[in-house]
Amino acid sequence: MNESPFVLYSDGKGNIFEDLTLYATGRSGWDALPVSPEDWIELPDGGSLYELPGRKGIGVDVITGEMRLCEKGWAVAAFIPPAHTGLYLSAYETAAGAPTLPLFCYTAAGWLNGKFHVPAIRIERDIRQDCKGYDWDRIHEGVDRSLQAYPENRLVKHLANNCALTYHCPAARNYFMGRWECPVPVSPACNANCLGCISFQPQEESITSPQDRLSFRPTAEEIVEFTVPHLQTAAYPIVSFGQGCEGEPLLMWDTMREAIIEMRKHTDRGSINVNTNGSRPDAVRALCEAGLDSIRVSTNSARRAIYEAYYRPNNYTFEDIVESLRIVRSYGGWASINYFVFPGMTDSVEEYEALRKLIRDTGLTMIQWRNFNIDPDWYLGRIGVTDTGEFLGVRQLMELIHEEFPEVRYGYFNPPMERIRGGFEKDFAH
Ligand code: SF4
Repeated sequence: MNESPFVLYSDGKGNIFEDLTLYATGRSGWDALPVSPEDWIELPDGGSLYELPGRKGIGVDVITGEMRLCEKGWAVAAFIPPAHTGLYLSAYETAAGAPTLPLFCYTAAGWLNGKFHVPAIRIERDIRQDCKGYDWDRIHEGVDRSLQAYPENRLVKHLANNCALTYHCPAARNYFMGRWECPVPVSPACNANCLGCISFQPQEESITSPQDRLSFRPTAEEIVEFTVPHLQTAAYPIVSFGQGCEGEPLLMWDTMREAIIEMRKHTDRGSINVNTNGSRPDAVRALCEAGLDSIRVSTNSARRAIYEAYYRPNNYTFEDIVESLRIVRSYGGWASINYFVFPGMTDSVEEYEALRKLIRDTGLTMIQWRNFNIDPDWYLGRIGVTDTGEFLGVRQLMELIHEEFPEVRYGYFNPPMERIRGGFEKDFAH
């Protein structure tokens, strides 16, 4: 594309308009800047737009080339769907007293040729969370079938009534459609205090968590009862401990270990994965001994200070998460980071150097380039970052890391065993 989209604004009543006097810009760190035309793509299917109360969009005047505010209404941002990574945040000026934005990602957005556009790339070919792939009739049938098959199973009830039917969790909906990644939340507690925790927000905070944290400790029997049939029958099956509706799964490592041993007595099909904050390397080793195939450690940064300012860990350190990744690799397992991408922070020169070190120190297998679901001003303010320093650009960061570490895979989702063993690059539009 060789044209720049125009700024979008809202009337505060949910109606969105384009301002043909201003080209859209993007945000990196604290700065607004022009976005090169080739970085814009049409807003992918499943994306949505937000009006940002108390904020005015920043654009480039189409005549003078000067950067100025759009005074016509509130700023607008895009929530881009899974499998896509945003290259720039929405650029706006925040008025005093503006409300903190909820825990969603705020990618830049613009209007061109009758379509909404965003600066983003599709980083993942796997279609498991493409919204057009969901069939609510099949989901409801699956829910009814599972609740009948496992009437006493608290976890199946939670996945059905809360995850699939209330939160519309993509993984839970896939489970009830009998395919792909099956979510297994296990922990009501956590040993971190992430600012942007999506399952628990302290009363005093002005934002709320989009999900409620699991309120019970499942037994190994409850876990095994529905995961074994999934591993045995689903297409490209994955069983994934560690979900958005729970605390830290490693705090339930003994139950997970027991369940993994039991699962593998019944089938060697599929991949058993844990999404985790990586805080307990000892527990990770025990799970690898039991048969864990892959791990995904979430992090907002490869820098200790930035990590600990956000995670506010209880009784563990950044070094522990590095050790957890290293241990899985030492067992030949697949080790990913769930990398919260924040333009200006993730692609800063300091972060780039730290990421190179993390890859070298761990033998990392994959980077899942995830959009950071958080209010940008609130996040930078709370971790005390007033200047994000020199930056490379998210696309350039990806290219530099790929050049130096071609063996490190890129994506957005945990790969199934067929991809882990079958060669990650193989065309995968299942
Ligand atoms: S590690 Fe997960 S559950 Fe724990 S505080 Fe952070 S986001 Fe919340």
